[in-house]
Amino acid sequence: MNLQPPTLDTTLESLRTEVTGSVALPGEAGYELATPWNVAVPVNPRAVVAVENAQDIAATVRFAAKHNLRVAVQRTGHGAVSLGNDVLLVHTGKLTECVVDPVSRTAKIGAGLIWQNVIDAAAPHGLAPLTGSSPTVGVAGFLTGAGIGPMVRTYGLSSDHVRSFDIVTGSGELVRVTPDEHAELFWGLRGGKATLGIVTSIDIELMPITHFYGGAVYFDGADAPAVAHAWLDWCADLPEHSSTSIAFLQLPPLPQVPPPLAGRLTFAVRFASLTDEAEAAELISRIRSVATPLIDAVGTLPYAAIAAVHADPVDPMPTHESTALTTDLSHEAVDALLGAAGPGSQSPQTVVELRLLGGALAREPKHRSAFCHRDAAFTLFTIGVLAPPVADAVVPHAQALGRAMAPWTTGRALPNFAPSDDPEQIARTYDEDTAHWLSALANTHDPSGVLAVGQVMRQIR
Ligand SMILES: Cc1cc2nc3c(=O)[nH]c(=O)nc-3n(C[C@H](O)[C@H](O)[C@H](O)COP(=O)(O)OP(=O)(O)OC[C@H]3O[C@@H](n4cnc5c(N)ncnc54)[C@H](O)[C@@H]3O)c2cc1C
Repeated sequence: MNLQPPTLDTTLESLRTEVTGSVALPGEAGYELATPWNVAVPVNPRAVVAVENAQDIAATVRFAAKHNLRVAVQRTGHGAVSLGNDVLLVHTGKLTECVVDPVSRTAKIGAGLIWQNVIDAAAPHGLAPLTGSSPTVGVAGFLTGAGIGPMVRTYGLSSDHVRSFDIVTGSGELVRVTPDEHAELFWGLRGGKATLGIVTSIDIELMPITHFYGGAVYFDGADAPAVAHAWLDWCADLPEHSSTSIAFLQLPPLPQVPPPLAGRLTFAVRFASLTDEAEAAELISRIRSVATPLIDAVGTLPYAAIAAVHADPVDPMPTHESTALTTDLSHEAVDALLGAAGPGSQSPQTVVELRLLGGALAREPKHRSAFCHRDAAFTLFTIGVLAPPVADAVVPHAQALGRAMAPWTTGRALPNFAPSDDPEQIARTYDEDTAHWLSALANTHDPSGVLAVGQVMRQIR
């Protein structure tokens, strides 16, 4: 007779009988789903549960509560934070429902979809979802982080256009969340990441967009000072039918990188406009005339080509991100950024980006959310690759860049960029009231703290 108490891994065997999806322990097939897009982040959960439905998530949450474990959620790992062996990782990749209703211009989308799936499903109906810069990002992670897309000035946050969520709370309850049902959760899920629950599906509005005028104009790094200063002036009266960002780029000499952009500092002005072609072309002509572009890839594009605006990296890689929000920027601020990331700066970052905010984003939507930064003027974002020869230089440089820009940054953080489980950074994501209410709601809906892991807003009670 075996009198040994069952080990946790033996007990995890019983979870296999409670879920329709699969449960993978380290070394088993399916555990590799834990590997995040950002491969620099150690994601080493006790087990990976590849859920097939909301009931699987509820069973996982209840199991975790019983065995004093936590539950985290991941789709692509674009926003991964480190996880250890006290965590069960729900992987949502099998939640792939996607139903487009062209009459109401809405879509019901499973939490396992990435934006490209929704773009492809909506396009035949002449419709488009408000994706982020990278269509390989997961819909649920993006929308619970508020979602700042390439058309943010025209439509506001992508999460301003969510109609409802289906979630599993930290108590293991399946809850439908709309502006009228559990309105407090509807407020907090848009910006609160997984603090208040694991999303299983989302109803979103689709926009009647088939084409837009946009893309990017790429300049030699040596032209960055002239173009960046001209861009700042241009931003001042840019109508809200148009959104824009700039990026200092140092792209590697890889086959997918156009040769004029590879292995050198270049400077991109990104543009996405929904006005007519003539007006949009007239607007961007001011930028085009500042210097001779290396590549001019701005024109009328199908919405399906929205990824061309930012041309974000697609393949998994070890990255470090930093982020800040700014007040209005002066030419002095642009000089400070040029000093940190421009020609001669020796910046090791792959991307140093400024996105213009304002427009529709600055207005509160009909249903308020836990996003706290509508008054910010720009987002500042860096991505560096933690690989030789720059691996050791990326983090100190990002910190130095942050210090150089400090006179113009607000000290606040966005929920989506530069993910972190550091309570101080998480607290900087919210104003005091929002932080309080997110924590209070989490305490109500997740009293055992099953979901209190990773990037969630919980204050010590
Ligand atoms: C190259 C790149 C480009 C990006 N571009 C943009 C952009 O233009 N605009 C923007 O706003 N953000 C952008 N981001 C940030 C991105 O939106 C976030 O990292 C987002 O969290 C990624 O979601 P995911 O599901 O793909 O990632 P994951 O790492 O799988 O998830 C990240 C987090 O999202 C939350 N989450 C994921 N799934 C669920 C769920 N089902 N229920 C509840 N919470 C969930 C959890 O907190 C989870 O830890 C970008 C990131 C990268 C790396």
